[in-house]
Amino acid sequence: MPNIKLQYADLTLDRCDQYRTDQYKLQQLWRQQSTRFCVMQNQHTLILSENPNSAQVALLARDTFKELIPKELPSRDLVFLGIAKNGSAFFGLLVDDDSVKQILSINSDYQFIDIRQVGNLLDYTTASLAAYARGIFYWQQQNPFCNRCGSTRQLIHGGHSLKCTNQDCQHLLFPRIEPAVIMLIESQDKDGKPICLLGRSANWPTGTYSTLAGFVEIGESLEDAVRRESYEEAGIRIGEVKYIAAQPWPFPSSIMLGFRAKALTTELKLDPNEIEDAQWFTLEQILQFGTWGDNMHSGYKMPRTDSIARYLIDLWISEQRTEI
Ligand SMILES: [Zn+2]
Repeated sequence: MPNIKLQYADLTLDRCDQYRTDQYKLQQLWRQQSTRFCVMQNQHTLILSENPNSAQVALLARDTFKELIPKELPSRDLVFLGIAKNGSAFFGLLVDDDSVKQILSINSDYQFIDIRQVGNLLDYTTASLAAYARGIFYWQQQNPFCNRCGSTRQLIHGGHSLKCTNQDCQHLLFPRIEPAVIMLIESQDKDGKPICLLGRSANWPTGTYSTLAGFVEIGESLEDAVRRESYEEAGIRIGEVKYIAAQPWPFPSSIMLGFRAKALTTELKLDPNEIEDAQWFTLEQILQFGTWGDNMHSGYKMPRTDSIARYLIDLWISEQRTEI
């Protein structure tokens, strides 16, 4: 296994589910001096960026912007994220346009941006926390009305549940996650050399190739989703399917489940509605790939360093090298 981590998959907080239903405890944590806030404007997170090559999630202390934080725990626009090993509690807080202006005036290096734009620059732990907050807020904002009776909903359980305000209904809604499978398909060429299948979508940066992926359908096992997507997109029949790792992907509400898939066939039959191209590559070819975003490199390029696709490819590369 290569010594690499998966971005967005390194949340070190204890989520402290037991406090979500304890309003007194939540109030106490909200008022603590050591509490930190991951501040968001819609789907944009407050980031500290001193230059184009650096970015970190700005986790604000109460004193930094105390005039803008409600004194008491608000009943909306927040999520209790959990507690760090040092005892500090973390909340996600949504702010309005007026507050945004005031927060940006605190530090000229602050900006609200989509964390995916800087995902490859963020440290694993705070990127995981910011992705978690973003996913929860997206879910809250997408579900203002009860899907049973149409009444408004209120936030409960520290922002982790939505409850219908109609006393005759009181339906509870919990966050939904849409699973997607992503798979590195491997085989051997006619000389017996290991090869893997990478493809690209038409809207990706020029030259970028990555592993195939697709959403899991209702009533489908993960393994079958790998087999179906591989056949639909590239016409490849799959035998053995092995789970490798998962990457939370709350952009807006998914999780990527990474697999290694052994191809039973190698002849490609591409679905142009799904992918623009796919090809089999040897290790030597992949080692010639440029890095994502390198506009000076005119050939094939790797997917983003913060993606599980890259993780799966790096893992395959390291295994082939070990076997040489
Ligand atoms: Zn209802």
